[in-house]
Amino acid sequence: MTRIGFIGLGNMGLPMARNLARAGFAVAGFDLNAEAVAALVAAGGTAAPHAPGAAQGADIVITMLPAGRHVREVVTPALAAATAPSSVFIDCSTIDVATAREVAALLPRPMLDAPVSGGVMGAENATLTFMVGGADAAFAQARPVLAAMGRNIVHCGAAGAGQAAKACNNMLLAISMIGTCEAFLLAEKLGLSHQALFDVASTSSGQCWSLTTYCPVPGPVPTSPANRDYKPGFAAALMRKDLGLAQEAAEAFGAATPLGAMALEMYENFCAEGGDTADFSGIIQALRAAPR
Ligand code: NAD
Repeated sequence: MTRIGFIGLGNMGLPMARNLARAGFAVAGFDLNAEAVAALVAAGGTAAPHAPGAAQGADIVITMLPAGRHVREVVTPALAAATAPSSVFIDCSTIDVATAREVAALLPRPMLDAPVSGGVMGAENATLTFMVGGADAAFAQARPVLAAMGRNIVHCGAAGAGQAAKACNNMLLAISMIGTCEAFLLAEKLGLSHQALFDVASTSSGQCWSLTTYCPVPGPVPTSPANRDYKPGFAAALMRKDLGLAQEAAEAFGAATPLGAMALEMYENFCAEGGDTADFSGIIQALRAAPR
């Protein structure tokens, strides 16, 4: 049986680890929060007393941690030494490309960066998308494990390519969401109904996911967060984090991303004004209130 060490059992990690236990993997979990570890045990996993304990003898070690500094702290050569010699590390956290590459290069075991999209619902329902960077052989070894937690698994290239894909995708998402919000706000001023704009744009060249799946006004897409007072969904604070990573990468690697920079500034302001726990589509409310 494949032994998995799972470190970081938060909003995302716990349901992912539960799905692995349900799929029949032997999952040893560790988190600084003992309640999270107890919840994994209740779902059929085992409790590790610390991170090296979770890695002990593991074939696959998965980390799902808040940020790059936590991954640096936890995923060390000493931790790798505790694992089975043929083991593979998979970091599912969203972190910067440079840290992903550095940590992978220092590790005496193959390591994949495999950030996800799909949020807590995707983690619970095992429908996440994984964007994976790393060597072919490690990807092949990890694939059945990722398949127990997600639906789409895309091998994007070498180490760091998964984080690169995540940063590019979420920068595009933020820009398209702000654009969609602005179109609805202009429509309101012009006396055009939300439904009329939706009916036209969703079948025209303005069509995008922010409009057709995640519509920022209530009505046209009944399942979007706008219909439940912008309860997340995908919290604005997480979008701010991802835009920060995208801008860090743009600066470090010399890409001109003026709209990405503006989107970051807009989400920083939205979060500072109390929108951080709202869904990221809730930025339409701040835009509506903004002076022309
Ligand atoms: P979270 O804060 O709920 O969970 C992080 C967990 O890591 C916490 O339980 C914390 O106790 C634990 N932790 C921190 N340092 C640790 C250490 N040294 N050892 C062991 N455990 C430690 O965060 P989350 O929402 O689960 O997100 C995890 C990652 O997934 C982040 O990088 C986030 O950007 C990314 N992500 C989140 C979502 C989402 O919708 N929540 C969606 C996509 C990606």
